[in-house]
Amino acid sequence: MNTSIDTAERIVIKVGSALIVDAKTRKPNQYWLATLAADISELRAAGKQVVLVSSGAAALGRPFLTDAEKSGKQGQLELKQAAAAIGQPRLMASLQAAFDLQNIPLAQALLTLDDTEIRRRWLNARATLFTLLDNGAVPVINENDTVATSEIRYGDNDRLAARVAQMVGADVLVLLSDIDGLYTDDPRKKPDSKHIPTAKGVTPELRSYAGDANASAGVGTGGMATKLDAAEIAWSAGCSTVITIGKPEHPLRRLRDGGRSTWIVSDLTPQAARMSWLAGHLTPEGAVTVDAGAEKALTSGASLLAVGIKSVNGQFPRGAAIAINNAKGKTIAKGIVSYQAAEIEQIKGLQTSDVTARLGYPARSAVIHRDNMILVEGED
Ligand code: GLU
Repeated sequence: MNTSIDTAERIVIKVGSALIVDAKTRKPNQYWLATLAADISELRAAGKQVVLVSSGAAALGRPFLTDAEKSGKQGQLELKQAAAAIGQPRLMASLQAAFDLQNIPLAQALLTLDDTEIRRRWLNARATLFTLLDNGAVPVINENDTVATSEIRYGDNDRLAARVAQMVGADVLVLLSDIDGLYTDDPRKKPDSKHIPTAKGVTPELRSYAGDANASAGVGTGGMATKLDAAEIAWSAGCSTVITIGKPEHPLRRLRDGGRSTWIVSDLTPQAARMSWLAGHLTPEGAVTVDAGAEKALTSGASLLAVGIKSVNGQFPRGAAIAINNAKGKTIAKGIVSYQAAEIEQIKGLQTSDVTARLGYPARSAVIHRDNMILVEGED
């Protein structure tokens, strides 16, 4: 259970357009970004992995849509998509300039809804994000606004950030907002509104407080209600959410120093949440049979490698849930598979070092990664 980013290991930080883009000049708030990068550098020095979810592409690109600017027609989806296409490289350039001061390499990942909702794509995106984190980069995520149409949009980066937190198994999601947390009412209109420091999940009572209290004027899209939606997604993935004000310089240092915020606390760990999700959702679409060596390795916590696989049953795609059976036909584990059935047929029995040559493209680290597997007992 986390109510401090100091005890977190992996943190997703969401920064909205209103923080990145100066409403008057419509250019990046470069000094503020430098203070954010310094704070993230401090978190990394304390051993934490950080993923940044950043908005601002559309807001930075919009001034360059000269026709639309003149006519005042900025609302259409195509125009937003075009604005984001112009703004995204400008956003990355400003972020990289800020993070260069800390010698931190950034990595851009633009996601669409399918990347978190379709298991095969989710596996891809997740594997790449882990590789980036393991190599010391800070992934910077935004929605792929230019190709996402309205039916397939997250729509706001609060929810996108929560899906990313779920994907990377983050233990804390930080939503930097224009207000220092959730209040019983809008404190800007009703000064006697009470601040809520912590909540154990997104209760109906919490929802009743949200209203439109946090709708940012002008550049952002998310209000407090979408922040609670995000917190709910994160919560069910074992990730606590903290909502705090982003506008002051060094917003994360401020939070760590006890700045006012609202914590929505999950008392599961991301690992436990994942295991219970796997246990509840896996109806096998096929199976592999493994040898005694692999059975032993799996029960002691290893991933399933090609070398231990004797045979494949069924036709299943990459990302399917399958059963892992022992030589006697007993199911010993279930998991989400990184290869389709036909590929496993080709590589079964091979050492990982020989898999690439057989397939003709780079091998994945395992057929079923440990994190995507649960052991089961006594299922025939
Ligand atoms: N993806 C949008 C952008 O970069 C922002 C969405 C949001 O603000 O929630 O402009």
